[in-house]
Amino acid sequence: MTAVHVPGAPLISEGLLVSTSPATGAEAGRFPLAAEADVRAAVDRAREAGDWWAGLGFAGRRDRLQRWRGVLARRIEELADLMHTEGGKPVGDAVVEILTALEHIDWAARNARRVLGPRRVRSRLILAEFTGHLEYQPYGVVGVIGPWNYPVFTPIGSAAYALAAGNAVVFKPSEYTPAVGQWLVDRFAEVVPEQPVFQVVHGFGAVGAALCRSGVGKVAFTGSTATAKRVMAACAESLTPVLLEAGGKDAMIVDTDADLDAAAEACVWGGLTNAGQTCIGIERVYAVDQVFDAFVEKVVAKAGRLTVGADGSDLGPITMPSQIDVIRRHIDDAIDRGGRAVLGGPEAVQPPYVHPTVLVDVPEDSAAVQEETFGPTLVVNRVRDVDEAVERANALPYGLGGSVFGRARAVAVARRLRSGMASVNSALTFAGMSTLPFGGTGESGFGRIHGEEGLREFGRPKSVTRRRARSLLPAMTFERTPADVARIVKIAKLMYGRGR
Ligand code: NDP
Repeated sequence: MTAVHVPGAPLISEGLLVSTSPATGAEAGRFPLAAEADVRAAVDRAREAGDWWAGLGFAGRRDRLQRWRGVLARRIEELADLMHTEGGKPVGDAVVEILTALEHIDWAARNARRVLGPRRVRSRLILAEFTGHLEYQPYGVVGVIGPWNYPVFTPIGSAAYALAAGNAVVFKPSEYTPAVGQWLVDRFAEVVPEQPVFQVVHGFGAVGAALCRSGVGKVAFTGSTATAKRVMAACAESLTPVLLEAGGKDAMIVDTDADLDAAAEACVWGGLTNAGQTCIGIERVYAVDQVFDAFVEKVVAKAGRLTVGADGSDLGPITMPSQIDVIRRHIDDAIDRGGRAVLGGPEAVQPPYVHPTVLVDVPEDSAAVQEETFGPTLVVNRVRDVDEAVERANALPYGLGGSVFGRARAVAVARRLRSGMASVNSALTFAGMSTLPFGGTGESGFGRIHGEEGLREFGRPKSVTRRRARSLLPAMTFERTPADVARIVKIAKLMYGRGR
């Protein structure tokens, strides 16, 4: 170990990746670093394992996935403790995260056959003599690259759906959370001991890059927008399809008829849970003028009560030490440009912790409004009406989630948000609803995990037509006659020529 090691920052010792607690520096585990050849070897093994796994069929895979879910549920305290030790996440937050992941495994396992299995598709008059068949076949091997902030929820959101669809998975966890990644894979191997259907490869960004170039059938990436662009560029070389779940700067809108207590509670939780290190965390709030002062007062009262520290606190440490500088820069910049800290402020930054900070009247062009902060800070700005709120919420290139509090117009406003998801009168709830797709637009990425779309993301649509009768009007054949063509012209005009 080096003397200058910052707690939480991963280090390399004797060729192993050593993961440490951001709060105490205690070691959480050490793991072999994968070289490019190791990544390729893992993908080769996965290819064979994937064939075996696909051969189990939907029922066989459902059974194994449900057994994995059962093991994770029975050992929930152990996993939550590991997440707490390695990433600093409060145990309560870890438990909620695992619960959400369990629900996704359960739903994906139960619904894969219905959504992806072979089915007849109706044909139309134009090809009435044929039947249509559709199914979603696995890609073979899916590479999953995950971030550190939700080390169970995010990889499982891709991996469980990819596995249910019949793929093998090679998973590259963040260098900040390799122990949790390894634990998930080890538990899977207990219920699927026959083949390495779900493997992990450890290392830094280069290992993720190697996975993109390893010949996997698809890459499912969750992480920052900057890395998402590098992943897509690497995948472009071989036309490997990608699913990108990238960063966000989600907004909450508080309308005049909102329940302000509920809005403040959801705002504080949605913005500060996991110390604000949440892709779908509320980072900006636009409150309509009439309710602004009362809302801010409630937010400050609730956020000011939160405890910060290592064990048993509401907010844990900032997991990635370098993020502290980003949070500090955003707070300082907001204040330099005329914003006010009504809670916390520059002095709230006490590495490895940041205390809750609420900034108001922050210029829209400041870093705290424009960039992902990823800390326990909230920017609350005053707007004239909900139209201005929507305009400001939609002004950034990100478009992940969002939240709206209000009664009469809330759903309509949620629909106007340029984002992949929104919650009305709550925050972040769409993440736990397994039946709803999860994902963003613009700089927040594309593709979907969760729900039916999340299953289809991990299967190639395979379309098959089958003749069931002779064609009365030969069209797709050199046997057709000029008279047949004349009839086709007539039919085309009859069927499609009406209207303007
Ligand atoms: P990063 O983009 O830094 O890293 C994500 C993963 O990509 C890590 O495993 C990382 O490895 C790996 N990686 C780094 N460079 C490359 C590369 N060139 N090619 C392939 N893989 C690479 O994100 P963070 O881990 O810091 O996570 C935080 C970000 O994730 C935030 O922006 C957050 O909004 C976003 N996020 C998005 C979610 C969503 O669903 N939309 C959910 C959760 C988080 P290593 O760590 O070893 O460098």
